[in-house]
Amino acid sequence: MAGKIYLVATPIGNLSDISIRAIETLKNADIIACEDTRNTLRLLNHFDIKARLTSYHEYNKIEKAVEICNLVKEGRNVAMVSDAGMPAISDPGYELVDIAYKEGIEVSVIPGPSAAVCALALSGINSDRFSFEGFLPVDKKERKEILSELENESRTVILYEAPHRLVKTLKELFEYLGDRNVSIVRELTKIHEEVIRGRLLKLISDYEEERQVVRGEYVLEIEGKS
Ligand code: SAM
Repeated sequence: MAGKIYLVATPIGNLSDISIRAIETLKNADIIACEDTRNTLRLLNHFDIKARLTSYHEYNKIEKAVEICNLVKEGRNVAMVSDAGMPAISDPGYELVDIAYKEGIEVSVIPGPSAAVCALALSGINSDRFSFEGFLPVDKKERKEILSELENESRTVILYEAPHRLVKTLKELFEYLGDRNVSIVRELTKIHEEVIRGRLLKLISDYEEERQVVRGEYVLEIEGKS
């Protein structure tokens, strides 16, 4: 009998946010596919989970997906995790799910935190409709194209951003979208969890004049065009 693939969400900071089902699924999996084995091992050790790990990265995602599907067809249960949060959301995963369906393999999800949605709930910005954009492209031309598209977006825009690009991105958002209201959500579920709210221009000057320090992981929630 064929096994199954389980997409397992893991904490985005606070390890107590793991679910009981996630622990059970990881304990019962024959193999856990993960991004960084050292990172996943830390999580597994914390919950005393012994498992066989295999790495699943951006660069080997297609061959690895085929390999994983073959193991599942032989009857193995494979859990897939990313470094943090929900696999397949700005993380590897969707190709595996797509290939699995095409191979007639069952896929299940073990829900848990995802930074985008947690930040949206915490942002105080309209959450009725939103456009999740993940990370803006690094390539200048692609970045410009996306920013131009966002100019007329009336839904709340959600972006992931690395700390070293935060101020640059805020400036570009101001340039393309105008002086919108933004909630900068950082370090969700961690000791320094914080929401910094305000208009883009004011926030940019706060960072430039060091009234705010840039540190940690960030999600930007940007008010849509009214
Ligand atoms: N799959 C993950 C999810 O479901 O949220 C996202 C992975 S993506 C590679 C990592 C980015 O998510 C970080 O650079 C940051 O923008 C955001 N992120 C992850 N954890 C976060 C946290 N605790 N607080 C704020 N942002 C976070």
